[in-house]
Amino acid sequence: MNKRFAELVDLDRFRTMMRWFYQATGIPHGLLDVDDTILSAIGWQDICTKFHRVCPETACRCQVSDHYIASRLPDAGFVGYQCANGLMDYAAPVIIDGEHVATMFLGQLLHEPPDVERFRRQAAEFGFDEREYLAALERVPVIPADRVEAAMAFFAQLAGVLADAGAERLRHLEARQEVVELNRELSERVEARTRELEDKASALTRSNAELEQFAYVASHDLREPLRMIGAFVTLLEQRYGPKLDDQAREFIAFAKEGAARMDRLVLDLLDYSRIGRRGDEPSPVDSAAALETALADLSLVVIESRADVQVTTPMPMVMADPGDLARLFQNLIANAIKYTPAGRPPEIRIGCGRQDDRFWVFSIADRGIGIDPEQAERIFLIFQRLHTRQQYEGTGIGLAVCKKIVERLGGDIWVEPAEGGGSVFNFTLPAV
Ligand code: ADP
Repeated sequence: MNKRFAELVDLDRFRTMMRWFYQATGIPHGLLDVDDTILSAIGWQDICTKFHRVCPETACRCQVSDHYIASRLPDAGFVGYQCANGLMDYAAPVIIDGEHVATMFLGQLLHEPPDVERFRRQAAEFGFDEREYLAALERVPVIPADRVEAAMAFFAQLAGVLADAGAERLRHLEARQEVVELNRELSERVEARTRELEDKASALTRSNAELEQFAYVASHDLREPLRMIGAFVTLLEQRYGPKLDDQAREFIAFAKEGAARMDRLVLDLLDYSRIGRRGDEPSPVDSAAALETALADLSLVVIESRADVQVTTPMPMVMADPGDLARLFQNLIANAIKYTPAGRPPEIRIGCGRQDDRFWVFSIADRGIGIDPEQAERIFLIFQRLHTRQQYEGTGIGLAVCKKIVERLGGDIWVEPAEGGGSVFNFTLPAV
């Protein structure tokens, strides 16, 4: 057992109880743990504490008595013993989980009036002050054997009650200890996992920043040689075009178109890598104004396609970057126009509602060609297109830009089929 007996029982209460018992019966007693620490003691006799246990020869007899009692304790309900100094002692063990953890003593006492002559001889033999020794003897309680044995039977039961209470408390302490251990282990694991995640997150942030820096520099620097290719191919066409045959002129046209397409791609890529580069914190932005900017930029396409664009709800203030928000609207409305089959004026409905107390949810619905639900996630990845260039012109970066803008603000973006055909693009942005 890894607990001391004193930790397992309410000793104050036990001592109070025993004081009342002594007052009622005059029977002295003690409770000692296995290291002989006295936990409770009442009525111990001077004849023992001041004479027998002090003088080496008589103390030796006390030890013989202690040894006799101790050696018989574990397998007896209680034991009694008359020591060689002439006094009676009784003891009962307290046993918890098969382990002897404390001893209840009853004594010291006499069963019959003492043989004073014998004690007088002892005083002379061991050099005790006879008057004081006999006075101490006089104070030793004389209690008949049958009464003491009844008291001892009571003590043995009491030892059992103490043992049960101690065992229960021990179980409780062990369970509590186990919970404390489990908690400690758990919080250690949570801490380790949190550290691991933090390390990974900062490594990811670093590598993202490096990647963005790379994309920015690469796309920026790529434009210069591209411009040269375009310019010289144009020069070639102007100076030597008339001297070349039709096929050569066709090759030149392909080269020019390729250079122009690559320039478009690089520009889009540059746009993508620019999002969030300035590191500005989101601020309150009027989404109605951002939408207006987007529509102004698209006015030519809107007119040419005869698109019917309607805003169906009031547009709220949100936390964003004004330029990014206008870009978000512009990309989604441009797609809604582009992906409506030619010959049919695009119908676009823009609305907004509260998602919860933190976010607004915006929607841009079209009546266009629609999107296969299985491709609904893929289209937000960079360079992912569902159509060839011959079908629809594009670089496959527009929706990746939208996703990056929205996620940087803590929002989400997704597409779902519109009722009756077409698509609805939804995105959430934090409320002000
Ligand atoms: P791009 O338009 O340059 O191809 P995006 O990233 O804007 O690139 O879009 C990715 C793909 O998602 C498009 O190629 C198209 O297949 C599909 N898509 C986007 N918007 C719509 C829409 N409103 N209706 C149908 N398909 C769309």
